[in-house]
Amino acid sequence: MTIDIEEFIGILEKEVRNYQVPVVDLIAVQTKDPFKVLVATILSARTKDEVTAVSSERLFKKAGTVEELAELDEATLQKLIYPVGFYKNKARYLAALPGKMATDFDSKVPDSMEGLLTLPGVGRKTANLVLAQAFGIPAICVDTHVHRIMNIWGYVETKKPEQTEMALRKKLPFKYWIPVNSLLVAFGQGTCRPVAPHCDRCVLTEACPRIGVSPRKLKAKNTKGEVLRLVSWNVNGLRAVYKKGFMESLKEMAPDVMGLQEIKAMVEQLPDPLQKLEGYHSYFYSAERKGYSGVATYSRQKAESVIRGIGDPRFDEEGRVLTLEFPTYYFINCYFPNSKHGLSRLGFKHEFNVTLQSFAEELAKKKSVVVCGDFNVAHKEIDLANPKQNRKNPGFTPEECAWMDSFTEAGWIDSFRAKNKEPEQYSWWSYRSRARDRNIGWRIDYLCVDKKSRKRIVDAEIYQHIYGSDHCPVVLDFMK
Ligand code: SF4
Repeated sequence: MTIDIEEFIGILEKEVRNYQVPVVDLIAVQTKDPFKVLVATILSARTKDEVTAVSSERLFKKAGTVEELAELDEATLQKLIYPVGFYKNKARYLAALPGKMATDFDSKVPDSMEGLLTLPGVGRKTANLVLAQAFGIPAICVDTHVHRIMNIWGYVETKKPEQTEMALRKKLPFKYWIPVNSLLVAFGQGTCRPVAPHCDRCVLTEACPRIGVSPRKLKAKNTKGEVLRLVSWNVNGLRAVYKKGFMESLKEMAPDVMGLQEIKAMVEQLPDPLQKLEGYHSYFYSAERKGYSGVATYSRQKAESVIRGIGDPRFDEEGRVLTLEFPTYYFINCYFPNSKHGLSRLGFKHEFNVTLQSFAEELAKKKSVVVCGDFNVAHKEIDLANPKQNRKNPGFTPEECAWMDSFTEAGWIDSFRAKNKEPEQYSWWSYRSRARDRNIGWRIDYLCVDKKSRKRIVDAEIYQHIYGSDHCPVVLDFMK
């Protein structure tokens, strides 16, 4: 399928009029100052636009010209631009910039690719953006959005942004060279997002080939009452996620049973709507230590019985396991220990895993069992973005993966992998380095079922489009 680029860009030009303007474009329009465009572009790399805007403004109050910038030392610059990504490196580049510009360019921003590339912290992407925005010189700035979306459309077939730039230089009509970046950055931030693009509301949805895309899924399935929707979500603080749209997410997911981990609260610390969630029966098992660990389960159906803990005070004082019994199955909600930096809790975690497994296996003798939660381990290489670099790190050590092997070899079924073999399907991303935007993540949240219940797995998904925590919810549609 070949797309009509003129048609696509024409549609987007109308579409993004109401979108937020990318910050560098805004600074270019407002200031028409090549120095400020250059500095803002350096700050914007791997940084959210809102952060770049605030940091740029703070910096420009002290250093609106290259001469003023020369007065500031690296430590001051670090403070002024924090918390942009890689602020230490960027402060170093900015500290070196006035000297380089004075020596080679008479303290002016050079208006050529060759000149710009000699400046500290300036690569092709930055240079192209400065040429286009500060000087109006036709140049194609290929950032992650342009690279990604052009490949989704099949307009180019490239692996790296530099290759995309070269491919676009050969085929993209000249008139789009300058505007294509701001168009696709705005569109990529608003609709065609890096994770779970909003294809359901996209103006290009009919014509887009959607190469390599996993769009967000919105609607609850028409289950006709035969299927239960089970959800597991490490919320990393129930009070925090409540302030970040938890109720809207709940409405969208429409779970029958939802296990939450790391609630980090005693029941009485929760706002009333969470203590007794409307339409649900609410069950809690908090850690003895305030603000730490803890699990909660909300269920539309009242549980026949509730088991708090797994009978070992070492684990139970940390509020890690809460089990609800229903007529045809047990729902075990678990927050597995983290083996911690230096693997100081690797032994503790292993003992927890083994105890939990025998607990679940006892219950599975009576009826179906669903074990859900943050397992704090990526099982196989496909389950994390950088397996080689993480082989010795908590969550992917050979010991932790070996337990997960033994768990599945004992018959426990990872419901997501039973339905989906695709790579790059993650449920947790570090808060650092915009890992979620770049989908540098790990799949460490699971809904597993006992071997006799395989046929009850209807579907399993990861709701990457739901925000509010560093984890996203994972979902199992389970036959009643
Ligand atoms: S249909 Fe989906 S993949 Fe295609 S441009 Fe729109 S949001 Fe992106």
